[in-house]
Amino acid sequence: MSDDPRRLVPRTDTLLADPQLAAAGERLGRGLVRSAVQRVQQRIRDGEVAPAAAVDAVLACLPGSASSLRPVLNATGVLVHTNLGRAPLSAAAVEAVTAAAGTTDVELDLATGRRGPRGAAAIAALLDAVPAAEAAIVVNNCAAALALVATALGAGRELVLARGELVEIGDGFRIPELLVSTGARLREVGTTNRATPADYRGALGPDTGAVLKVHPSNFVVRGFTRSVAVGELAAVLEGSGIPLVADVGSGLLRPHSTLPDEPDLQSTLAAGADLVLASGDKLLGGPQAGLILGRAELVERLRRHPLYRALRVDKTTLAALEATLRGPLPPVQAMLAADLDGLRARARVLAQRLTAAGVEAVAVGSEARVGGGGAPEHPLPSAAVALPASFAEALRRSPRPVVGRVEDGRTLLDLRSVPPSADEDLARAVLEVAAR
Ligand SMILES: *Cc1c(COP(=O)(O)O)cnc(C)c1O
Repeated sequence: MSDDPRRLVPRTDTLLADPQLAAAGERLGRGLVRSAVQRVQQRIRDGEVAPAAAVDAVLACLPGSASSLRPVLNATGVLVHTNLGRAPLSAAAVEAVTAAAGTTDVELDLATGRRGPRGAAAIAALLDAVPAAEAAIVVNNCAAALALVATALGAGRELVLARGELVEIGDGFRIPELLVSTGARLREVGTTNRATPADYRGALGPDTGAVLKVHPSNFVVRGFTRSVAVGELAAVLEGSGIPLVADVGSGLLRPHSTLPDEPDLQSTLAAGADLVLASGDKLLGGPQAGLILGRAELVERLRRHPLYRALRVDKTTLAALEATLRGPLPPVQAMLAADLDGLRARARVLAQRLTAAGVEAVAVGSEARVGGGGAPEHPLPSAAVALPASFAEALRRSPRPVVGRVEDGRTLLDLRSVPPSADEDLARAVLEVAAR
């Protein structure tokens, strides 16, 4: 029995003291290493691993980092993909996040040594980018911005909202349910397809806390339709003192030539909204955040509300937001701007390289989308590499996961949502899968 491997299972302490595993413990945390050690000890007892190979076996099953979130190449052609973490940050924003991640002067004025306003630089960057705004604050996401507005302006009162704008964003998140959960009452106006200024006028009264306009960012209503533009609504509210709040969703700062139907913060304020709300991680291309901009007195009311403290963002978000606004074009904006000839050329080069290696690959035309971020039904001409359908799952499960799109029995790797700098990684991932 003395050669029974089960009797020779190395002790946990002995393994943890091994220099390579101790170093891994420093990097990943001892808990992660300890649980890998326990898994390997079990495999030794089961006779699957030789006792002498214990250290190598533990090293082989350690995760690459202490977080299990893994980088994924987004080849879906959906530029802002909620399941893939929406906007990828620019290199400048990543650098800013890293710098801010330690102790930082987020609320300290280093010149005077006194407490300073939190996130002042990110706010200043927002106000420079949207000159129509007098003031701004940043909260956790656009849902938080809606919750704060509804609580501060609408709790115990009425929020007036068109029936055609009772939007479900996704994963069961329904804006009207969020609004009501704050204690506000919804005063719905118009019908699914039509609302007129007169509908709004008829709904206003002493109980009105605010009028809300929500951009239908993931659907379109066509046919016999009528909605009331921000400018028209501002005229209806003129002199009433009732705030007009517009949730524009996508976070475009200014009009975008490629997406003419997508509202933007600057124009919406200029048209007469008192407050505008948007997400930071959709078309703005920054970190998850809820942006609230507009009239100073209203913004100050929100900032003074106790709920604001529960919704405010951390230093890394403020750093990423400032770098997104001040730094080079963030990836989402670059993807929107990518020209079709360039995308086609990349697809051809990739397809040739894969074909030369024996992979059945062909460059094809494709239609990309903005995605959960806005511009519903607005196709963006694109180019893709088409592979056999079976690649979709294999690529998703590969060590460097790639998510493509299955269409007409093929796997399409759409290049509009892939930064050009990642083409090499994409090729390697496909070749690895093909070699199996
Ligand atoms: C996406 C979206 C939201 C929700 O934004 P989050 O930042 O995900 O909370 C709210 N309103 C509109 C119009 C949206 O498009």
